[in-house]
Amino acid sequence: MSVLAGNPPVALTIAGSDSGGGAGVQADLKTFAAHRAFGTSVITALTAQNTVGVRAISAVAPEFVAAQLEAVLDDLPVAAVKTGMLATPETVALVARFAPRLPNLVVDPVLVASSGDRLFTADAERAYLELLFPHAAVVTPNLREASVLLGRDVLDADDAVKAAADLAAYGPRCVVVKGGHLRGSAEAVDAVWFDGRTSLMTAPWIDTANNHGTGCTFAAATAANLAAGAELPVALAEAKTYVHAALSRSASWSLGAGHGPLGW
Ligand code: PLP
Repeated sequence: MSVLAGNPPVALTIAGSDSGGGAGVQADLKTFAAHRAFGTSVITALTAQNTVGVRAISAVAPEFVAAQLEAVLDDLPVAAVKTGMLATPETVALVARFAPRLPNLVVDPVLVASSGDRLFTADAERAYLELLFPHAAVVTPNLREASVLLGRDVLDADDAVKAAADLAAYGPRCVVVKGGHLRGSAEAVDAVWFDGRTSLMTAPWIDTANNHGTGCTFAAATAANLAAGAELPVALAEAKTYVHAALSRSASWSLGAGHGPLGW
């Protein structure tokens, strides 16, 4: 049967715009399209940024984030949702209020850009842990975000496994601590907590500076797979494979003077 015969699955990203095109909403929509999902978008913040860094951020007023959410959810059959940069605790609280209408919720707790620029105002930890994590199908912090959320260093594979279990206590069905930058590893290793057990998900390490948007892409690919009906462990494994392939394709690109985007 032709892929065009039926409706595509609909995915929603609730995230910030990256003017440089590497991360945020731009990465999410590109990833949804690569998975043949129809992408919708609720924009929470504008960033003026390029591959080198974030120059300015303008958060969208929570009322207007709500208006976008209402418009999309009142009309389109959203099957999975990814949250990225939510920018303020007020927007985290707002998204949590909409949670009953957000199926297959993938929460990427974006707090700091790879360039080191902060993408969230104060009090991120409490807002994420207490308000949004209980509603999530899966949460996908990187090592640095897991450290901020738990208030302790998360540096190696053992730390990541413990962090995944501790974050699971806040109520998500699954936790992935992304260890892209894990100390002393030749592989890209993620710690996964699911169904009371922790395991490691690995892929060969790709040595490239073109990694801007890797976290967004992993979470968006997971949401696209869930929208298409995949079970959670399969959705995660296929997203990991997709990110590895996308990073391979763009490893030798030279776009911009800083951390370039990954491909698709
Ligand atoms: N969302 C926005 C709007 C961003 O600007 C960034 C990073 O700069 C991110 C998300 C997170 O990016 P990454 O996928 O590289 O962690």
